[in-house]
Amino acid sequence: MKRRIFLPVLCLLLTAFAFGCACALIVVNEYSTGKISTWVSLAVPLCIVACGVCALVAAVLAICLTSGFSRRICEIEESLKSLNAGEYRPLVTDSRDEELYSVLCQINDLNRKTHKYIRKQAEQKQKLAVVLENIHEGIVALDGRDKIIFSNSRALDIFACRKIFAGAKLSYLIPDSGLCDKISSCGEPMSVFDFSRDGRAYILRVSKTVQAEESSGISRIIVIADVTKEKSIAKQKSDFFANASHELKTPITVMQGHSELLLAKGTLAESETKQIMRIHKECVRLSDLISDMLKLSNLERREQEPACVEVNVRAVCDEVLSELSEMTEKRGIIAEVEGEGNVSADPKRIYELIGNLCTNAVKYNKDGGSIWVDISDGEDAVVIKVSDAGIGIPAEHIPRICERFYRVDKSRSKKTGGTGLGLAIVKHICVLYGAELKIESEVDIGTTVSVSFPK
Ligand code: ADP
Repeated sequence: MKRRIFLPVLCLLLTAFAFGCACALIVVNEYSTGKISTWVSLAVPLCIVACGVCALVAAVLAICLTSGFSRRICEIEESLKSLNAGEYRPLVTDSRDEELYSVLCQINDLNRKTHKYIRKQAEQKQKLAVVLENIHEGIVALDGRDKIIFSNSRALDIFACRKIFAGAKLSYLIPDSGLCDKISSCGEPMSVFDFSRDGRAYILRVSKTVQAEESSGISRIIVIADVTKEKSIAKQKSDFFANASHELKTPITVMQGHSELLLAKGTLAESETKQIMRIHKECVRLSDLISDMLKLSNLERREQEPACVEVNVRAVCDEVLSELSEMTEKRGIIAEVEGEGNVSADPKRIYELIGNLCTNAVKYNKDGGSIWVDISDGEDAVVIKVSDAGIGIPAEHIPRICERFYRVDKSRSKKTGGTGLGLAIVKHICVLYGAELKIESEVDIGTTVSVSFPK
């Protein structure tokens, strides 16, 4: 554009200058010869007039040439402004305009694409906002320094917080300092915490982001779910489980007692004795099952959990193995205990845990097999390892082996008097004391179950 204005103006000015110079030369020449004629004396004003005319023509020419151009520039400016305001306004293009046509087409193309992209982004943002604001769970995003980057209104409702600003501390939203500390200190990729507020039960899940923190600024995401209803249903189920077990316990005990009495009398015929013995065996099995169901429901309800005391694990192991000695001797199984260690827990629970593991090690062992119980008192944990050289557990069953009534071989388990609840009880006791349960096994080689009690 500059060139367009500059060139004609420069040409005209040069012409005017050349014309002025020519006139000046004539004047100087005439003056030096001493014969200034009258027309020469008119040359100066003529020159000035000529220069003025030239300048005027140059100005008019410049305005004419640039007006179309500046109009176009204004149009481009308007189009960009409207794009900025979220509207796409295409520029008028004229293929006869050689210089601007392709530029305007490029600008139109770029504007159209940019507008489409902006609209798509805005739509996605809106959809995301609708999801986040209408979801029943509270969602909070934290940066690397545990400052709040985002929180939806459900999260604010849960903690009765009216407003939150980006960059606020987590404690501004969650008034429970203990819970804040737990969130800040959790190092796992995913951690779950329970808490209750205003009579409602919640589960809070903290997950670390997988993407690089720098890209989003988000390092952790907290999802808070109201589980009051689920907890109440679970409690009803557990209560039913406990009540039904209690109700069943009395008649079974009576039946068991009567069958024992009948057998003790010794007045029955052989076939009747066999039948009563069968009844007695089933009564014992049912009684064991009910006892295990009661233990499990007590563990689940976690009601009236007695205070923890120092339990000598070695002493418990010895006691359990001596209880099982009749069984082990009968099958020629050798049992050994090594190591020492104390854990802080309810002695009854530790007895149940070691009892279940050792009973399984005997039940699923081979005749003439071995059992090793190893207690190691480490820096961070006391580890109890119960190993056997028995039938082992196929790898595909291990992930589900602690589920209630899950058995690898149903007929074998029933034959050995198993209730199918032993490992479920072990798992619950581990959860109760924050212990880690690990099961390693190889078919026909043996099984090792280790429980690691944190110190
Ligand atoms: P059960 O009363 O049937 O033994 P558990 O919950 O104690 O119930 O064990 C569940 C199942 O796990 C058992 O039925 C058995 O198949 C398998 N199992 C447990 N411990 C062992 C072990 N030491 N060796 C082989 N299999 C085992």
